[in-house]
Amino acid sequence: MLEIITYPNPILTKPCQPIANPTDLEIKQLITDMTKAMRAHDGLGLAAPQIGKNIRLFLTEIDHELMVFINPEIQKLSGKDTRAEEGCLSFPGQYLPVVRPDKVKIKFTDTSGQKQIIKANGLLARAIQHEFDHLEGILFIERTDS
Ligand SMILES: [Zn+2]
Repeated sequence: MLEIITYPNPILTKPCQPIANPTDLEIKQLITDMTKAMRAHDGLGLAAPQIGKNIRLFLTEIDHELMVFINPEIQKLSGKDTRAEEGCLSFPGQYLPVVRPDKVKIKFTDTSGQKQIIKANGLLARAIQHEFDHLEGILFIERTDS
């Protein structure tokens, strides 16, 4: 099982590098291992730096739907600013209120190497923004308004 890196490990605050070959076997294996780790910790999302890899990859799993985002780019944030408690597997047991826009449009590469653009709202939009922040080395303690 992959170990989850916790704060204040400096890996968590380093910006991540793009993945040159999203369909590499090594990436596929990493996604499988990250999925197991996320589920073992009951996470709604997990980003590669949280398991010690500074690469642009994160997962979300909301309502039993697993999504994999490789080299994601946020294209638009919109909707109402919404305040809600967030948790983070790198901060065990800590929950903090964070204000985020309710809607996100995101472009990414999927596990078959295809480019996709999706729009999300609600909890998925929040999870996407939280995990995307990890790729920029931004942690939710910097976003909280409490
Ligand atoms: Zn997190």
